[in-house]
Amino acid sequence: MLLAELSWPAVNALPRDMPVIMPIAALEQHGPHLPLFTDSFLVGEVARRTNEALGDRVLLAPVTWLGNSHHHLDFAGTMTAAPRVYLDMLRTMIDCVLHHGFKRIVLLNGHGGNSVPGQQVLYEVRQHHRDRDDLLLLLANYWALGSDPAQSIPGLRHRIEHACQWETSMMMRLRPDLIGDYKSAAKFEWGNPFQPATRAWTMPDVSPEGHVGEPALATAEIGEALLQTFAGDVAAFLNRVIAWGGRSWNG
Ligand SMILES: [Zn+2]
Repeated sequence: MLLAELSWPAVNALPRDMPVIMPIAALEQHGPHLPLFTDSFLVGEVARRTNEALGDRVLLAPVTWLGNSHHHLDFAGTMTAAPRVYLDMLRTMIDCVLHHGFKRIVLLNGHGGNSVPGQQVLYEVRQHHRDRDDLLLLLANYWALGSDPAQSIPGLRHRIEHACQWETSMMMRLRPDLIGDYKSAAKFEWGNPFQPATRAWTMPDVSPEGHVGEPALATAEIGEALLQTFAGDVAAFLNRVIAWGGRSWNG
């Protein structure tokens, strides 16, 4: 059910074991061919499909579009919370949910740059409430919950990147009216000779145009297959959250 459409008495009547899903995303450049709101559109659509599948068993918050995207600021239009501001913003939002008595919180992430601060804030909340044993605090990237679509969808590159074949395909399915000249978008490889170490980067280090991967390979059919796969993965994951016993570590 949708938090934004409920009255406060309706929220107050909900069981506090109901998982609260908080989609987090971004408003950041997505190459020359995709809109700035791409990550927010995509995680919003995955969350919408998941909410439809799970009915009244989860409480879905609106997408938090302001993300941690300072590494994209070299490109016009990107709006971003500085990392420490982002930590405090997520912390405040989680504190509100806990204040209302809910115990199972899932940050459903749609933007890679949110992963590290999102995980950090969950650890901080857990440590602040270290005497409680009834909290379940989770972050999940919607594209990384089990399935490997590259194994099942013909013609798909090996992994999701940025404004890539995967994201372009899903946007083509969702908002074809917003797609630019993806056929002319150059191919940029991620690379990284220093793996498996983590190397700090800003987007122009990797791609002068703001995207990574091969957008020209996108199709709406691939996009629909990806959205179905990811929505199914998120629903299966949330069923595990619903089934949690309320105390134990292992589920
Ligand atoms: Zn993206």
